[in-house]
Amino acid sequence: MKIIIIGGSIGGLGAGIALHCKGYDVEIYERSANHMQDRGAGLVIQPDMMNYLQEHHISTKEVFGVPAYERQVLSSSGTPSHTFRNDTSFTSWSYIWQQLKDYFPKDRYFFGHQLETIDEKDKQVTVTFANGMKKTADLVVGADGYGSVTRAHFLPGLTPAYAGYVAYRGLIPENKMTDDEVAFFENKFSIYPYKHSHLLCYMVPGTKGELNKGQRLYNWVWYLNKSTQQLDEILTDKDGQKRRYAVPTAFLSSKSVDDLHQLANRELPQVLKDRVHQTDNPFVQVIVDLAVPKMYSGHIALLGDAAFVVRPHTASGTAKAYRDAIALANCLYYHKDDIDKALPHWNDLRIREASHLVQYGKQLALRSGLGIDINRTGV
Ligand SMILES: Cc1cc2nc3c(=O)[nH]c(=O)nc-3n(C[C@H](O)[C@H](O)[C@H](O)COP(=O)(O)OP(=O)(O)OC[C@H]3O[C@@H](n4cnc5c(N)ncnc54)[C@H](O)[C@@H]3O)c2cc1C
Repeated sequence: MKIIIIGGSIGGLGAGIALHCKGYDVEIYERSANHMQDRGAGLVIQPDMMNYLQEHHISTKEVFGVPAYERQVLSSSGTPSHTFRNDTSFTSWSYIWQQLKDYFPKDRYFFGHQLETIDEKDKQVTVTFANGMKKTADLVVGADGYGSVTRAHFLPGLTPAYAGYVAYRGLIPENKMTDDEVAFFENKFSIYPYKHSHLLCYMVPGTKGELNKGQRLYNWVWYLNKSTQQLDEILTDKDGQKRRYAVPTAFLSSKSVDDLHQLANRELPQVLKDRVHQTDNPFVQVIVDLAVPKMYSGHIALLGDAAFVVRPHTASGTAKAYRDAIALANCLYYHKDDIDKALPHWNDLRIREASHLVQYGKQLALRSGLGIDINRTGV
């Protein structure tokens, strides 16, 4: 069976690997020209995804990421007010992507292919790319993220909805921090919760996956409510170009960076304020919600963020995409390649978990006062 995957990020590669391991003839088409823009700096990896990566020798636990043994809640003075045991490893988007990419056959992964249109005829799906190339397959898997062109083919008009807040993010090379500062954050997941917001931080591998002391990166995420008018300003980058869902590193306008620094001065304890000021190129991601009523149509399937976007507080987006991928391969195999039986079965298995995660993420955000219009509600 010939399967084409649109999008070569974590969901696309997860599907590629799971399907390839079951013996399917699978190819991945990614729109980025030859390298991938980092989609999220630090990531929490859920245990089941870690197990899968270990079982398939894609990654070993020893080189998986930077462990955090303790969770520390910081007070407004910047000292830990509560500490808890923690057992999470933190990795980075680029580190995990590179490991998946290295595992998937090179000659089946194609950069520089942006999907434009899809046609279905006689149980065959033909995709046409912006470079003019056409490809036909028995099954097309849309792993093309929340702006999915694949989704637009059978669910036109369903687009991500702004959740009312953004995530500012930054990475600092560990060696820019003093030994005392490193010791304060090292092997810990630190969180500073305060009214209508929180900032969290942890160490992640260096840009090439370095795990040694002195070579890692300090990663912070700061969630802030923003009105749609404020959002418009934030999304206008330093060149005056309007961005849709994120302003990547080095593209925030100087006004946005100044505003961020002012806010840090007013709202953060010194130990975190210093980190925000120390960050060379902070960036921002808009938090959105998206839920499809159905994850397939005909011989086209949608997985990962293309189907459901969950709030980042669940730390599950990557694992969800991966579980979608593994379940799809298992269903196809179980139904002996009968796509018309496999896709409804897969849909039933996956839609429940995704819907639950969407709701759970919204509850977590509300508990932190995120996603509420402070000006309107006066809270
Ligand atoms: C602030 C924040 C923090 C997060 N923290 C975590 C965390 O701690 N843990 C976690 O698991 N998840 C986290 N996530 C979520 C996680 O990043 C995503 O859920 C996950 O990466 C899903 O990946 P995906 O492959 O489905 O989509 P994407 O990563 O969006 O990939 C889509 C791919 O498709 C390509 N593409 C798009 N359109 C086309 C086209 N027309 N043709 C060809 N290719 C195309 C894109 O270039 C891209 O490579 C976080 C997200 C945010 C915003």
